[in-house]
Amino acid sequence: MSKFSNHNFANQKALIRVDFNVPLDKSTFAITDDTRIRAALPTIQKILNDGGSVILMSHLGRPKDGQEDKYSLKHILAHLSNLLNVKVKFADDCIGVSATELAASLKAGEVLLLENLRFYKEEEKGDEAFAEKLSKLGDVWVNDAFGTAHRAHASTAVIAKFFPKEKRFFGLLMEGEVNAAEKVLHNSEKPFVAIIGGAKVSDKILIIENLLERATDIIIGGGMAYTFMKAQGGQIGKSLCEDERLQTALEILNKAAAKNVNIHLPSDSVIADNFSNEANVSIAPSNNIPDGWMGLDIAENAQQQFANVIKKSKTILWNGPMGVFEMSKFQHGTKAIAIAIAEATKNGAFSLVGGGDSVAAVNQFGFTNKVSYVSTGGGAMLEYFEGKILPGIAAVNE
Ligand code: AMP
Repeated sequence: MSKFSNHNFANQKALIRVDFNVPLDKSTFAITDDTRIRAALPTIQKILNDGGSVILMSHLGRPKDGQEDKYSLKHILAHLSNLLNVKVKFADDCIGVSATELAASLKAGEVLLLENLRFYKEEEKGDEAFAEKLSKLGDVWVNDAFGTAHRAHASTAVIAKFFPKEKRFFGLLMEGEVNAAEKVLHNSEKPFVAIIGGAKVSDKILIIENLLERATDIIIGGGMAYTFMKAQGGQIGKSLCEDERLQTALEILNKAAAKNVNIHLPSDSVIADNFSNEANVSIAPSNNIPDGWMGLDIAENAQQQFANVIKKSKTILWNGPMGVFEMSKFQHGTKAIAIAIAEATKNGAFSLVGGGDSVAAVNQFGFTNKVSYVSTGGGAMLEYFEGKILPGIAAVNE
């Protein structure tokens, strides 16, 4: 059992860094997707069930200069109380007298939510004095914010030094994320396919390079595939392309060949004369797209080609959509990949979906429960797979 599960939090005040950076409706401030809040519930509940109390700290959005109503965590208070079935208390400042008094008077089974940490510039700067003030609110520190684990902020990493090692914990969400990522990166059963999509090659170079050391197959889809097509002499019309990355694309292909990693590029594409759901559409080989047209999704042959690779794999990592899935005309490729991953998972493969847009796609198509693990941390998961050490993880372990 893990350190967190083994620990009894009775009569302890657990200061938990959560990631409640949820999207809010611009006019009503209602939460439009509460996935991140729900993801933290098991950690909170375990501590409450033990007879401990909980102090929650998070950021919300990107406030520029101090207090801004639209970024106040008070907007999530009612929903959080409902989910926990506890009337959550609120400190309208994350440090200072009121936070200190509210934290000090917290009884077993009670929950206190602190106002947005990023109302203080010190949070993102990783200011030690600010971290120390936060640390005084709790007896133990639990990091359950995988979404910000790649940041060395005051509450996500710097705060660790104010707690002895035995009083620092990964929460259950963080533990699940780390275990899933470790399984894929360091304990993968082969064949291991990494499916990389999305808009830009430049965003995904490091992850591809790290995966070249580990995967047996890499599928490249989405807008970034056309830079690879052009690099190999293909005609890509007005598809997305990073001309300054053509050389990089060729280097990736050469490295893959040298390492015996199979790179799969989409054989055909759904093409459009416009970046719009109202555009005229047609099908073309991905390396022979007529002038004036752009590839916005992978077409049927490519879907089949990719599905065949996915279905024979034992480990699957998916980051990034195969097309402009936000538009109904160009969502079929991404959906076909989700279906193939679900089928492979049903047949025993371990599948991890990480990165904002592929997670959104899996949710949108209703496949969340048909894959092994859906990561809540977009940027953090990406950096993990780039092979970087995440400060939020190191802070708990060191
Ligand atoms: P990323 O954040 O890099 O994973 O990219 C996700 C975005 O890539 C989504 O908003 C998709 O609409 C976009 N995308 C995927 N395929 C294409 C394409 N063929 N052309 C333009 N944009 C694309």
